Amino acid sequence: MSGFRLMAVHAHPDDESSKGAATMARYADEGNDVLVVTLTGGERGDILNPAMDVPGIAERMDEVRREEMAEAARILGVQQRWLGFVDSGLPEGDPLPPLPEGSFALVPLEESTEALVKVVREFRPHVMITYDENGGYPHPDHIRCHQVSMAAYEAAGQADKFPDAGEPWTVSKIYYTHGFLRRRLELFKEEYDQRGAPFPLQEWYDRWRPEHGDLMCRVTTQIQCGKYFSNRDDALRAHATQIDPNGLFFAIPLELQQRIWPTEEYELAKTRVRTSIPEDDLFTGIKPDNEGSS
Ligand SMILES: [Zn+2]
Repeated sequence: MSGFRLMAVHAHPDDESSKGAATMARYADEGNDVLVVTLTGGERGDILNPAMDVPGIAERMDEVRREEMAEAARILGVQQRWLGFVDSGLPEGDPLPPLPEGSFALVPLEESTEALVKVVREFRPHVMITYDENGGYPHPDHIRCHQVSMAAYEAAGQADKFPDAGEPWTVSKIYYTHGFLRRRLELFKEEYDQRGAPFPLQEWYDRWRPEHGDLMCRVTTQIQCGKYFSNRDDALRAHATQIDPNGLFFAIPLELQQRIWPTEEYELAKTRVRTSIPEDDLFTGIKPDNEGSS
């Protein structure tokens, strides 16, 4: 499949490299235009890599994160746009403190939606990707990312909505990306158990409460992209202040991942075209622009 446009909407720089990165690298490599929209600048991200926690980095964090993002986009072969909102940070404590004034999650939905609609009408994606209603991770910016993406998917094609934000464009489908799957973790664990080797992700495995269930039951679409797992990991490592290269993200060898679970998972949230589930391609049912109904 080539000649399509795919837009992934993410809350912070580095989210694009940990959620659906190999899928984007594959579609870009096969001749499609892929655009990552990053809603915030990630201003409140802590330095999570001990090797980067050195003088001179924290002082120019905004600039550093822009450089990291540009390198990750280059590795994935995608375009990238900043939407310019300010990271809300992850509130911690009991009770939770209020979000900092001016942060993304507090911006009125109309305002953030209009900003995203503008980019949708410029780029004219056939397919959008975002997070599910829980944000995939309980960060206020991730939940807001879901809300803004769904609102933009609805509004972009309607001429009476945001008339100053460009010519209407109707997006055909929108997906949620699902990364943390119980089934995937279990298969990896079985592999280590069979070899009698300690499972490097035991900590994640133990933290999983059965009542959380498995998001696998919501997955409609699996994209073969094992060939691009190394791009995904390189892009993630490009976010050097945020990602510890010795962290658990890289604990399972690539060849084992490629053999046991060579796909990334999505849930078709809304569609305006006919398709049948399960799918193995995000563009199933969509005609490229040059195949009009003439
Ligand atoms: Zn994030």
